[in-house]
Amino acid sequence: MEESQMVAELGRLIDPDRVLTGSAVKRAYEHDAYTVEKFPPTAVVLPETTEEVAQIVKWCGGNQVPFTPRGAGTGLSGGAMPALGGVVISTKRMTSILEMSPADRWAHVQSGTVNLRLTKAAQPYGLHFAPDPSSQSVSTIGGNIAENSGGPHTLKYGVTTQHVLGVRIVVSGGEVLTIGGPDGMPPGYDVLSLVIGSEGTLGVVTEAWVRLTPNPVAVETALISFGSIRAASEAVSTIVKSGVFPAALEMMDRNVIHAVRDAFGLEYPDGMEAMLLVECDGQPEVARQEMEEIIQMVDSAIDVRIAQNEIERAELWKARKKGIGALGRISPTVVTHDGVIPPSKLPEMLEVVFGVAEKHGLIVGNIFHAGDGNLHPIFCFDERESGKIDSVVAAGEEVIQKCIDLGGSVTGEHGVGVEKSSLLNKQFDAESLHWQGKVRDVFGAGELCNPCKMIPDAKGCIEHKVRWRGVAT
Ligand SMILES: Cc1cc2nc3c(=O)[nH]c(=O)nc-3n(C[C@H](O)[C@H](O)[C@H](O)COP(=O)(O)OP(=O)(O)OC[C@H]3O[C@@H](n4cnc5c(N)ncnc54)[C@H](O)[C@@H]3O)c2cc1C
Repeated sequence: MEESQMVAELGRLIDPDRVLTGSAVKRAYEHDAYTVEKFPPTAVVLPETTEEVAQIVKWCGGNQVPFTPRGAGTGLSGGAMPALGGVVISTKRMTSILEMSPADRWAHVQSGTVNLRLTKAAQPYGLHFAPDPSSQSVSTIGGNIAENSGGPHTLKYGVTTQHVLGVRIVVSGGEVLTIGGPDGMPPGYDVLSLVIGSEGTLGVVTEAWVRLTPNPVAVETALISFGSIRAASEAVSTIVKSGVFPAALEMMDRNVIHAVRDAFGLEYPDGMEAMLLVECDGQPEVARQEMEEIIQMVDSAIDVRIAQNEIERAELWKARKKGIGALGRISPTVVTHDGVIPPSKLPEMLEVVFGVAEKHGLIVGNIFHAGDGNLHPIFCFDERESGKIDSVVAAGEEVIQKCIDLGGSVTGEHGVGVEKSSLLNKQFDAESLHWQGKVRDVFGAGELCNPCKMIPDAKGCIEHKVRWRGVAT
C-alpha cells in the first residue's frame, strides 16, 4: 500500500496528528537500543486507548500490513524494530495510572506507563513496583512485560512475571482479551504466563494489573573493590553459595568504572580491577547482619565502602546506574549482550569474554547482575568502521555459545528479538521450537504481529535479515 494512502486511512481511525511519518520519524523508529539491525516503518501511530489500538490492529489485519508494538524503545535485542516495515504502534500516549489499591497492593495501568513513575506514585503508600530494570526511568510497563524484564533487585524479588496479575491485550484481528485482573489468574490454563516474555509477538498489551511490593524497612549498601576480575567473580560464587541472600549483587569491571570516573569525576581506589555493588534489605538487624557476613566472606577485597545514609547510598549506586551511559561517552556505538551462566562459572566465563573481545579487536566493559549469573558484556566500537558490525555479531555469538556450553542460556532478560532468533536452535531442539511457534497460532498472531521476532515464521524474514544489518535510512 502507498504510504500516503496508509497515513490517510490510519488518520481516519485516530486523530491524524497522532499518525507520524517522514524521514525523521522513520529514522527515530528504525531500531531500538540494539542499533545493529535497522528497518524503517512506513508510519508510527500513537493511540491513547485500548479501543484505538484495537481499531489499528484490525485495520492492519484487513490490509495485510505488519505491525510492531513499541514502548520506550530501550529494548536491547531489536524487538521493537519494525522488521518488515508497516506500522509501529507506540504506547507513548498510553501513560495513565488508572487505579491503585494500596490496601490490596495492586495498580491498574496503561501499558505505556513508565516503570519509575509507577514506583513514585506508589511511594506515598510505602509501596513500589519491584522489577527495576536499569532502564526504569524510561522503560514502560508494557515493554517490561513483553521482555519479562529483570533488574538489580531481581535476585531477591523476582522478574516481571512474578509481579503481573493480569493484562488487557489486543490480538490480531483487533479482538480485545482480558487475561487475569486484580485478583490474578482464575483457575485454568495460565495463559498470562504465555503473554509475559512474548516480546510483542502475540499482540499489543494495552493495560496491566501489577503487584505492588512493600518498601524494605532498612537497606544496607556496600561497594566492594577487588584487585582482579577473578577475585571479584570468585567472591560472587562464594556469596551465592553461602546461603546469605542479598537483595542485589551487581558487578562492574575496570573499563566501566574508569568510564564512570571520567564522566562524573568520582574517585575509586587505586589498583581496582572490578567492583561488586551489594545490597541487603529487610528488618534493620537482619540487613546489617547479612551485610556483615558478606563483608567477612569477601576477604580478597582491597576496599569496602558502606553507605551511612541515603545520599551515600545513591553515590555508591552511581557506578552501576551510570555505567552504560558512561561507556556511550567513550564510544560512538555500544552493543550490550545478554547471556546467562551458573554463577559458579563466572570466573571462567569472564576470561572468555575478554579473550573474545581481544580476538575481534573490540573494547568490552562488563556491568551485570552477577548474583543471578546474568552476564552483560558491552562491546564498544564505531559502526562506521568497515567490518566492525560483523565482528560484534561474531563476538556476541561466541560469548553466547560459551554460555550454553557452560550450562546457561542465550538470554537472561533482554529477550530474543531479532538478535538471538538464529541462536535459539543452539539451546532448543527443532521439536521444542516447533511447539513454541505454535503459541503464536493460539493467539492467532499470524505473520503480521511483530514478524521475524523470537521464532521467525513470516516468509520475508530470511531475505530481510541480510538487509537489516547496519542499514540506516
Ligand atoms: C541502559 C539500559 C539498561 C537496561 N537495563 C535492563 C535491566 O536491568 N534489565 C532488563 O531486563 N532489561 C534492561 N534493559 C532492556 C530494556 O530496557 C527492557 O527490555 C525494557 O523492559 C524494555 O521496555 P521498553 O518500554 O523500552 O520496550 P521496547 O524496547 O519499546 O520494546 C521491547 C519489546 O517489547 C515489545 N513491546 C513493547 N511494548 C509492548 C506492549 N505494550 N505490548 C506488547 N509488546 C510490547 C516490543 O515489540 C519489543 O519486542 C536495559 C536497556 C537499556 C538501554
